[in-house]
This record gives sequence, C-alpha cells and structure tokens, in this order.
Amino acid sequence: MFKKILYPTDFSEVAAKALDYIKQLKEAGAQEVTILHVINQRIIDGLKRHAMLDKDILHWRNKAEEIAHDSLVEMSKELESLGFTVKTVVKTGFPWREILEVEKKEAPSILVIGSHGRSNLGDVFLGSVSDRVIRKSKGPVMVIKRDMKD
Ligand code: ATP
Ligand code: MN
Repeated sequence: MFKKILYPTDFSEVAAKALDYIKQLKEAGAQEVTILHVINQRIIDGLKRHAMLDKDILHWRNKAEEIAHDSLVEMSKELESLGFTVKTVVKTGFPWREILEVEKKEAPSILVIGSHGRSNLGDVFLGSVSDRVIRKSKGPVMVIKRDMKD
C-alpha cells in the first residue's frame, strides 16, 4: 500500500514533518520515494512584471533549480541511508499541476504532503496546493497536519 511514495516538498516546516512520517512508513513496506520540488511559476511571472529581462529570468530559474536540486539530494541521502530507493525531481510551473503531472507519470502508491506549506496562514484549513492535489489526484493522499496550537 505504501511501496512507492511521491513526496512533494516546498522546504517548509510542515513538509519536513511529512518527511518524518515517510521514514516511519518503511516499517509498513515503503521502498521508493520520489522527492519533488516545484519552482513556482508565480515568482517568475512576478519577475516578468517587474521587467526583468528574459535572460536574467532564465539565469535566476537555473540557479533556483540548482539550489533546490542540492537540497533534494541532501534529503535523499538521509532516506537512502535508511534503505529507501530515492529519485529527485525539480520542475518549474504551478506546484499543484506539476505534482499531479508527476503522479500521472510515476503512478505512486500514495502521495504524502503537508496540510500547509510556507504560507502556513492561521485560519486556513488547507493550503491551496494541498487542496488542489487532494481534489484532483488519482490515488490516495496522506496529509500530514501542521502542529496545532490549542
Ligand atoms: P498557500 O501556498 O496556498 O499560500 P501554504 O503554503 O500554507 O498555502 P501549500 O502551498 O498548499 O500551503 O502547501 C501544502 C503542501 O504542498 C506542502 O507541505 C508541500 O508538501 C506541498 N507543496 C507546496 N508547494 C510546493 C512546491 N512548490 N513544490 C512541491 N511541493 C509543494
Ligand atoms: Mn504554499
């Protein structure tokens, strides 16, 4: 049921919490993890609006992809040392759309995501990325909730 996991991360605290659960899923038969980070197209659109040149945008995007890739490799080392087979994927686009695209391609047993991410707004029940992914995914989704302040 948990053999192949798709783990999208925005490097937030809640996403890090989701990774802790993935480690524990080893005992439940998890073997493979694809770690995915999406550089948000919204940021690029913002740079365009501020009249940044195309070549500079491309340079920024390449740099951002490189930094994200390095972080994913760090995470994968940790998972590999626990016996997981790991794949890292960095994409640029709208996070929910790219996550669903990778789900379609990789057909994971389950997606593990955080309920919230970097915005982590107090009153919001679900972040917009997890909301869309849960609505539109083909397979099951495990949602790891943020720490609640009661
Ligand atoms: P919002 O982005 O709507 O302001 P938020 O940042 O609190 O709200 P989401 O962005 O929905 O919440 O994040 C929920 C989860 O979705 C994260 O914990 C992470 O697992 C995944 N996620 C969000 N953004 C990305 C991204 N850019 N790349 C990969 N995974 C992401
Ligand atoms: Mn977000």
